[in-house]
Amino acid sequence: MGYLKQLDIENFKSWRGKQIIGPFLRFNCIIGTNGSGKSNVMDALSFVMGERVSSLRVKHLKDLIHGAHVGKPVSNTARVAMRYCSDKEEETVFCRIITGDSSEYHINGLRVTFAKYVEELEKIGILTKAQNCLVFQGAVESIALKDPKERTKMLESISQSKEYAAEYNKKKEALLKA
Ligand code: ATP
Ligand code: MG
Repeated sequence: MGYLKQLDIENFKSWRGKQIIGPFLRFNCIIGTNGSGKSNVMDALSFVMGERVSSLRVKHLKDLIHGAHVGKPVSNTARVAMRYCSDKEEETVFCRIITGDSSEYHINGLRVTFAKYVEELEKIGILTKAQNCLVFQGAVESIALKDPKERTKMLESISQSKEYAAEYNKKKEALLKA
């Protein structure tokens, strides 16, 4: 199974200029005082994984630019690149750039459509539309308190196992009949 190797960030939220976060290991722990930017790491990760603005704790895309939260954006662009390493140690760089009110998507330096970007992310098991790939601050409790059926639905959506439900039921029935 592949893993996230590094985040290359430029003018995104609390990072001014070019900053590198990583290299990461397969398991990582981020610690820091309140307001030091721990959740911003999650936001950077969600952003580069194609998350919609409404889930990134801001109203507009450009609010994600460093300094924009106090009305003083340092630039009109910001970017986050995610270096993903496959189990064969092959690196793929997924990059999302804020340009005005929209986003540009790049894979290994080549600009691609959002659809292509999402398709390539899906190939490495990242499902943008599932949203719940990342469990954010406060979400642990709400997930634990969900109605069991709702929680199952959520996990089925993340794992995409729902797509195999019909086939599974068919095989199960056949086995029971045998
Ligand atoms: P907590 O422990 O309270 O959850 P945290 O470490 O998760 O804190 P974050 O929410 O990641 O903290 O970071 C908050 C900080 O990010 C604030 O200090 C805020 O000033 C800074 N910040 C948010 N948006 C921007 C921005 N656009 N430009 C610069 N700094 C920003
Ligand atoms: Mg936080």
